[in-house]
Amino acid sequence: PVRVRFCPSPTGNPHVGLVRTALFNWAFARHHQGTLVFRIEDTDAARDSEESYEQLLDSMRWLGFDWDEGPEIGGPHAPYRQSQRMDIYKEVAQKLLDAGHAYRCYCTTTELEERREAARAAGRPSGYDGHCRELSAEQVAQYEAEGREPIVRFRMPDETITFTDLVRGEITYTPENVPDYGIVRANGAPLYTLVNPVDDALMEITHVLRGEDLLSSTPRQIALYRALIELGVAKEIPAFGHLPYVMGEGNKKLSKRDPQSSLNLYRERGFLPEGLLNYLSLLGWSLSADRDVFTVEEMVAAFDVADVNPNPARFDLKKAEAINADHIRMLDVKDFTERCRPWLQQPVAPWAPEDFDETKWQAIAPHAQSRLKVLAEITDNVDFLFLPEPVSDEASWAKAMKEGSDALLRTAREKLDAADWNSPESLKEAVLAAGEAHGLKLGKAQAPVRVAVTGRTVGLPLFESLQILGKEESLARVDAALA
Ligand code: GLU
Repeated sequence: PVRVRFCPSPTGNPHVGLVRTALFNWAFARHHQGTLVFRIEDTDAARDSEESYEQLLDSMRWLGFDWDEGPEIGGPHAPYRQSQRMDIYKEVAQKLLDAGHAYRCYCTTTELEERREAARAAGRPSGYDGHCRELSAEQVAQYEAEGREPIVRFRMPDETITFTDLVRGEITYTPENVPDYGIVRANGAPLYTLVNPVDDALMEITHVLRGEDLLSSTPRQIALYRALIELGVAKEIPAFGHLPYVMGEGNKKLSKRDPQSSLNLYRERGFLPEGLLNYLSLLGWSLSADRDVFTVEEMVAAFDVADVNPNPARFDLKKAEAINADHIRMLDVKDFTERCRPWLQQPVAPWAPEDFDETKWQAIAPHAQSRLKVLAEITDNVDFLFLPEPVSDEASWAKAMKEGSDALLRTAREKLDAADWNSPESLKEAVLAAGEAHGLKLGKAQAPVRVAVTGRTVGLPLFESLQILGKEESLARVDAALA
């Protein structure tokens, strides 16, 4: 049975790279009717925070992910927070030391740095040089007497390590490229290098799908796994698949600090979870060459990690928005109407709560649904219905109110007054006729009307907007613009 894991560290805000990894693991688990283990890698007390942890959980739920084992639901390998598993790591580290797979390293950072520099200068590999691999009892005694505090280092076997990456195919690391590495700090705190593979082993993970940035830790983990198997701690080495880098602007790796990578930003702007997931799935995968828009269920049904493209994926905000727009169109109109609520209420909405009108909202919602890219755009698009006066944006007024606009507006007002306000078509004809009288096409003729009534040069279909706002208020606004 397939067992995969999603194991973020609770540092900072959730970002899109993290979500992409979660998504691919989740889709893989669901496709194979396997198990998704959600594990929190919070062994770095200096960087981890409870707030981050809460945010992670909240984001995962918002995105609609579910997990079979993990925080809040528990499972056969609980606890799922590494900060609660310290005794386990201590015991495994001791076993590795006892069996000679790890050793205590007394080198100071300064010594390490000096030797690294020297190796670099001589053109030799600059990783750890094995200095403390075979210390004599006297050397150890002397280091201890000097008060040095050792770290625990894993002893890499002197052999080439080859594995078949699920995404990249066969990958080989020669020993000089994988030096011995630290697994426990001098203060006794176990490192990612130890706790991650130990938990993967204990939680019986079968497939590790994670970002390409972790590719170089895979040969180390395979070697550690072999030692763990020998010690009876692990059963089998999992398969590894490394998901491609995500490139941001200027073809640079999208970094966690890049504002474009913050998940909260997409939430606040009103991306639908399904739209965002659809877009993120395209960062390395596709349903078919001719289809960009699909549901998460379709993704689950089709997902195969062998189809993941190893080449860097480019993050494209415009495309993300276009895909989100398609998902907005796919919603049931009732659902759309409800999902907009956060942007129609305090603290986002600029109008007083008592000025909100549910009937008008229900009437305008379908027109908005066919036009928005993200839900946050709803506020500006409907504020003219709920504000006592249209927003007065000077630039818009200047743009629409050209010479002759007054004369046109006067004619439009007359014709609108005589039109049938139950019919947007009739309102359109009124403005069309006013335009003709002044030698203007519809587009040019409706611009001053739109600005007078909505305060903006762009917006939802004008004649439906006028009708929903109502004859009296619409004409009063035209009068105000003429005054
Ligand atoms: N906690 C690690 C991270 O956030 C997990 C890496 C892995 O998937 O092995 O990057």
